[in-house]
Amino acid sequence: MNAALPSLPLLHAVRVPRAALIDTSGFAFDRDGYAPADLTLDESGQVAALRPAAAAPAGDWIAFPPLVEPHTHIDKAFLRARAPNPEHDFQGARAAIERDRAGGWTPTDARERMERALRLAYGHGVVALRTHIDSQPDRLQPCWEVFAQLRHDWAGRITLQAVASLGSSKLVGAHGDRLGELCARNGALLGPVFYADAELTANVERAFDLAERYQLDLDVHIDEDNRGRADGLRAVLDRLDRQPFRGRVNLSHLCSLSRCEANEIDLLARRAAEHGLSVIGLPIANLHLQDRDRGDTPYWRGVTPINALTRADVDVALGGDNSQDMFVPWGALDPLAVLRDGMLAAHLDEPLGDAVARVSTVAGSIIGLGDCGRIRAGASADLTLFRSHDPFAALSGDYSERLTVRGGLVVARRSVDIA
Ligand SMILES: [Zn+2]
Repeated sequence: MNAALPSLPLLHAVRVPRAALIDTSGFAFDRDGYAPADLTLDESGQVAALRPAAAAPAGDWIAFPPLVEPHTHIDKAFLRARAPNPEHDFQGARAAIERDRAGGWTPTDARERMERALRLAYGHGVVALRTHIDSQPDRLQPCWEVFAQLRHDWAGRITLQAVASLGSSKLVGAHGDRLGELCARNGALLGPVFYADAELTANVERAFDLAERYQLDLDVHIDEDNRGRADGLRAVLDRLDRQPFRGRVNLSHLCSLSRCEANEIDLLARRAAEHGLSVIGLPIANLHLQDRDRGDTPYWRGVTPINALTRADVDVALGGDNSQDMFVPWGALDPLAVLRDGMLAAHLDEPLGDAVARVSTVAGSIIGLGDCGRIRAGASADLTLFRSHDPFAALSGDYSERLTVRGGLVVARRSVDIA
């Protein structure tokens, strides 16, 4: 739907989170980091002005800023039922994707699923999205071609980025160079998956060399298990100690860091900050996949130690990871659901009005879109609005309406009417 906002007065005394503001002076924030603001839009759908509310009390609308999904896998989305993983673990997921791909994916199949993911993300207020795309030697197509089409078709609605994802040992020889060229051609990143095995150091070296050769940034899956103790992070830090790297490096997952002693976590986090590394935590995937060894209720939570990384000044965003596939059966490309679950899983006890940065400004900055995620005069009015009495209530599903606003128009609406 594309209807005008129900009425502009709803934007008087709307509660906005601190993370969405460039200039916080004059705003009266509550303990949740929210302040009432008067938000006016112009006829072109841009924010004309954003000021501290002239009149108390706060109205009954709560605003969230433009949202960023920094780590997902839209190429595999929605395969859960078609390619089931009865074991619910990594091995089962890998076997399931092998079986499904053995039949070959058509461009139509890939496009339908990838576009459905983008429609969901758009409806949930996402303005920028980074997806990993499986890029083993026999799997470059049809997804890279479809991705290029989608990036063109969705320009102006969602800024799309891609990461070439594959086991780091597969970067050897001609395929590594082929992938380097493909990434450079598509403005994509290199995304090796590092495993804590005997080849780890060599694989890290190879990946950095390749990225350097083709002038690529890196966004790697790393330490996503309980086998080592941040072995991948240590290998990356050692490499950066030996030799500076020109590009940006993001580490996705980093679960086994939480198996180290507290002082060791702090030390590694400080080294990561010194090298300018960023981290994307993926709490829903981690809660689902980690600590399945015993086949029982998990003992180890398995999530990224986000608080320690943040204390050391490492930028940490939250991502949704896989959506309704053989790896993770959950997820609907909704960063606010990821934020809620991430705060719960990782005990992010910071004010919600600051934590929202992890799915807006910080996520945007990590993926190189530093101007993303603010509500500011002169920018497109891209908001998620809840009619709710409290931001925690809103993210708990206790609201009567949720509106996604893009360029001042309501593009998605969800109403709840409990008599
Ligand atoms: Zn992932």
